[in-house]
Amino acid sequence: MRATDIIAHKRDALQLSTAEINWFIEQLTAGTLPDYQASALMMAIYIQGMSRRETVDLTLAMANSGDQLDLHDAVDYAVDKHSSGGVGDKTSLVVLPIVAACGVPVAKMSGRGLGFSGGTLDKMEAIPGWQAHVPIESFKQQVREIGLVLAGQTAELAPADGKLYALRDVTATVSSIPLIAASIMSKKLAAGSDGIVLDVKVGRGAFMKTVESGRLLAETMVNIGRDAGRDVVALLSDMNQPLGYAVGNANETREAILTLHGSADTPPDFWEHCLEVGGHMLILAGGADSLDTAKEKMTAARDSGRALSKFRQMVEAQGGSGRFVDRPDLLEQPPFVADITINRGGWVEEIDAAAIGMASVLLGAGREKKGDSIDYRVGINLMIKVGDTVKANQVVGQVLAATEATLQAGNAAVLQALTVSDQPVKPLPHFYGTVT
Ligand code: URA
Repeated sequence: MRATDIIAHKRDALQLSTAEINWFIEQLTAGTLPDYQASALMMAIYIQGMSRRETVDLTLAMANSGDQLDLHDAVDYAVDKHSSGGVGDKTSLVVLPIVAACGVPVAKMSGRGLGFSGGTLDKMEAIPGWQAHVPIESFKQQVREIGLVLAGQTAELAPADGKLYALRDVTATVSSIPLIAASIMSKKLAAGSDGIVLDVKVGRGAFMKTVESGRLLAETMVNIGRDAGRDVVALLSDMNQPLGYAVGNANETREAILTLHGSADTPPDFWEHCLEVGGHMLILAGGADSLDTAKEKMTAARDSGRALSKFRQMVEAQGGSGRFVDRPDLLEQPPFVADITINRGGWVEEIDAAAIGMASVLLGAGREKKGDSIDYRVGINLMIKVGDTVKANQVVGQVLAATEATLQAGNAAVLQALTVSDQPVKPLPHFYGTVT
């Protein structure tokens, strides 16, 4: 087989055969395919698209490119969740311990943030001592013993995705539905999950800007899961404005821990989101027979303190101190804090999630490129939502910064991301639908 023929087939809008897709991924993984040919094929796929069969073939070839985890010696049914990436999305920190406290074991591999999109591992690492690296045997042992483990994805899991994603990132080929679907689902399939809840974000702060494109991505991923014999549910959730109030790392971790405490400061949109995502996880794993029952069980697990103690167990098992779980205010604070003051009254019309995400990168809470270091202490707390009324000179949040200069720049960037209208504005929906 020749790479040029495969590229030409896709360039000319022909369907690639299973053998062609397998050969391409094998050569890529073995390091015998030059980057320029892999990139050319990515661009051809970006432009011509892929059929359902081709997308499933690509996903399976990528999932088979490295280790395949089998968790069945540790759990009967492995349930997982995945967010397509967003701003202020600390859902895993709350949902995983709650689901585990409801009796459904969770063994999850998560990623780091890039660009305006945050990452679960970065947020967890704001807890001093907490280790994302958990060797596979300890990973299984921890889920067996305490029912909850959260770790970084190993390089051996779907390595073809790592290579392709790095090329897509620099060749303007990220936002292609078959490529995103294959990238996400290859990692989920290789991680051994039986049931997967996909949280597909749509809006300004998401890869998918419209509900229609989000639905298409969701349907593609659900179809891949079904064809690969897994149970998959996808939720379409709003990412036009940040989720919850906190955007950053330590401040998001604090918000998540306070949510597990059942604090009155829990952002209502965030709690609603957690119930929906976790509710579907419970249903998939047989822990509840309806969404209402699942939400009741989850609320009870939070109210009784069982979810918080599950989170503490996980933190301690992975080297962190339970002190920060009991007292999240002890998490490291930034040296500079300034109020965000809105200068005119009216109704909040827009809180541009991507712009807020970029403001948090500017403050040092995120990465411009892979491998950049981040400052856990900094970020943004923004206590308003689209549709809220605000008064002139009202304090609507705080900027948390490492220097005086970033404090000023961060504050200006946040204010740029906010629009206030003279007319009443409807609140944004939290969800746009479910794909099963
Ligand atoms: N997240 C992924 O893991 N892959 C993509 O291609 C996009 C988002």
